[in-house]
Amino acid sequence: MFHVKQYDVIVVGGGHAGVEAALAAGRMGAKTGLVTFRKDDLGVMSCNPAFGGLGKGHLVREIDALDGAMGRASDYAAIQYRLLNRSKGPAVQGPRVQADRVRYRDAIRHIVAEAPNVDVIEAEVTALELEGGRVVGVRIGDDSALLAKAVVLTTGTFLGGKVFIGDRSFPAGRMGNAASTVLAQQLRGLGLPMGRLKTGTPPRLRSSSIDWDMLETQPGDDIPAYMSFLTNHTIAPQIACAITHTNPETHQIVRENLSRSAMYGGQIEGVGPRYCPSIEDKITRFADKDSHQIFLEPEGLDSDTVYPNGISTSLPAEVQEAYVRTIRGLQNVEILQPGYAIEYDYLDPRALDLSLQLSALPGLFLAGQINGTTGYEEAGAQGLVAGLNAACMAFDREPLHLSRADSYIGVMIDDLTARGVSEPYRMFTSRAEYRLSLRADNADQRLTPLGQTLGCIGDGRRVAFEEKNGRLQSARAKLTAKTFTPGQLRNAGYKISEDGTRRTALELLGLPGFGFDVLETLEPDFKTIDEDTRAQLGREMIYAAYLTRQESQIASLRADEARAIPDGIDYSAINGLSRELADKLSRSKPKSIAQAGRIDGMTPAALVLILARIQAVG
Ligand code: FAD
Repeated sequence: MFHVKQYDVIVVGGGHAGVEAALAAGRMGAKTGLVTFRKDDLGVMSCNPAFGGLGKGHLVREIDALDGAMGRASDYAAIQYRLLNRSKGPAVQGPRVQADRVRYRDAIRHIVAEAPNVDVIEAEVTALELEGGRVVGVRIGDDSALLAKAVVLTTGTFLGGKVFIGDRSFPAGRMGNAASTVLAQQLRGLGLPMGRLKTGTPPRLRSSSIDWDMLETQPGDDIPAYMSFLTNHTIAPQIACAITHTNPETHQIVRENLSRSAMYGGQIEGVGPRYCPSIEDKITRFADKDSHQIFLEPEGLDSDTVYPNGISTSLPAEVQEAYVRTIRGLQNVEILQPGYAIEYDYLDPRALDLSLQLSALPGLFLAGQINGTTGYEEAGAQGLVAGLNAACMAFDREPLHLSRADSYIGVMIDDLTARGVSEPYRMFTSRAEYRLSLRADNADQRLTPLGQTLGCIGDGRRVAFEEKNGRLQSARAKLTAKTFTPGQLRNAGYKISEDGTRRTALELLGLPGFGFDVLETLEPDFKTIDEDTRAQLGREMIYAAYLTRQESQIASLRADEARAIPDGIDYSAINGLSRELADKLSRSKPKSIAQAGRIDGMTPAALVLILARIQAVG
């Protein structure tokens, strides 16, 4: 029977992008339908059992700051905390957790079940419903239609997905799941700019067959850096991982069998992630190295499965077994599931606007792996933005555009929509030019107020944020009220430049040698300031001088970003613009002067010509 059901927003896919999209739309008050193949697969991690890391940890904190689920769920699931780059400055530190797969999935299911305005519908979306050149809903497996004012597509690796193990290949969205082939056909038929990408995963090992006693262990941090601003204690028991290495014998076996690898034997046309190389890539690209590190990461507290981080592969199963068994501690290991590669369709993200809406098909938003990214965090962050914007569209509100100056999410969306991808895109701190101010520790200060204005912050977070800000403000006031001359500091036994400047205690905090331990000796009342507030103020003050300089750069970026480039501008008609730049501009269709400025080879003179053109047509 043919049914029609009406929603404000429909989200297709219950992976990391889809879950954040549906929750965000729901928090905005939109009646949201989350359609996914299997309800039980909400929150499934397709690959590594970990969240966060360098750049990615920033994304999790930003999702959390806008009241998304990933931070809270990963704290619930965390079985090991590590702050990467701990010895470097706070701007490039990356909080990371190793996560118990079952606990993560349970946490996400629980959050979705409790979420306002979200219905989960178990079905395959077979087509988009189109009307008058825009998307008005989706058609599902039983031929019912679900109508909505906006649709968010988050099909991950499932769209036209094909799994490869050696010379064997079959359609699948990931191991054990059907691919989304019917929808892929419709999208290809619409003439959208699509391509193929690939990624791979390592074999999974039976924990009880590993000789753990032979291996060096890696414990977590003594003081955990939580993923969510709302978490204040460790929830699950903590475990250690182990470290082992490949060796010349391992490399020999891989090298001898390269032609049997799906990725090297020519079966896969898509491009893979340069920053997550397979073992085949590693021994080819770094031929001079005779050893690579492998982290053996248990997949959960009650799981007998171990994820060997660093040896993803698409070699035949018997070759995987042979090379894995050459590795120290793994001589008798049992492989529970062979590693494999997957190739899938993605859409060129230059076809999207900054709200992640497809410019050619109004009403359709795209988020996650379908946009050419890789990773749970990148997917979740886009899902959040797409979900918020789908709700904005449903309520006829202005879209949310995050900028490179306010968040890593803004950096990622700008990179994707302006430059597109030539390989799966993942986040790094080096991608963010304003990384001194875009720190993981201040994501809430940067984004929660924006979320409050938008209406996506729940009461629990609002109260916690206001309390935290109250503590920060009162500590800042205390530290600013107390001032010291160089003479006073010298008399108290501390070294300071004799420049005659009277400094506040807050300013002193930014100078080497003036931590809270010193400040307390100068003013005992500072002892009442709690640990978290101290740490936050300390990080702020380390960067204070640099940030003043960065703020003027950010102000000029915002002015440039505000200058939008209208659609349909004819670059070939701009006198004085080189053919090469005109071609690049026509292909990448920058949405603003700031985006145009980041095109490879762009010059200040060319930007002036474009500005003149905008003014002439505007
Ligand atoms: P997914 O998590 O894939 O979720 C897609 C969802 O959409 C699924 O729930 C699916 O059921 C649903 N769906 C799809 N089509 C339909 C439809 N037509 N109707 C209804 N529901 C539908 N990331 C890394 O960072 N590093 C790695 O090394 C890495 N390796 C990977 C290796 C493999 C083999 C795979 C499969 C993934 C790997 N990833 C890796 C990527 C990581 O899993 C993804 O980036 C992330 O899960 C993407 O999230 P997503 O929400 O976009 O899609």
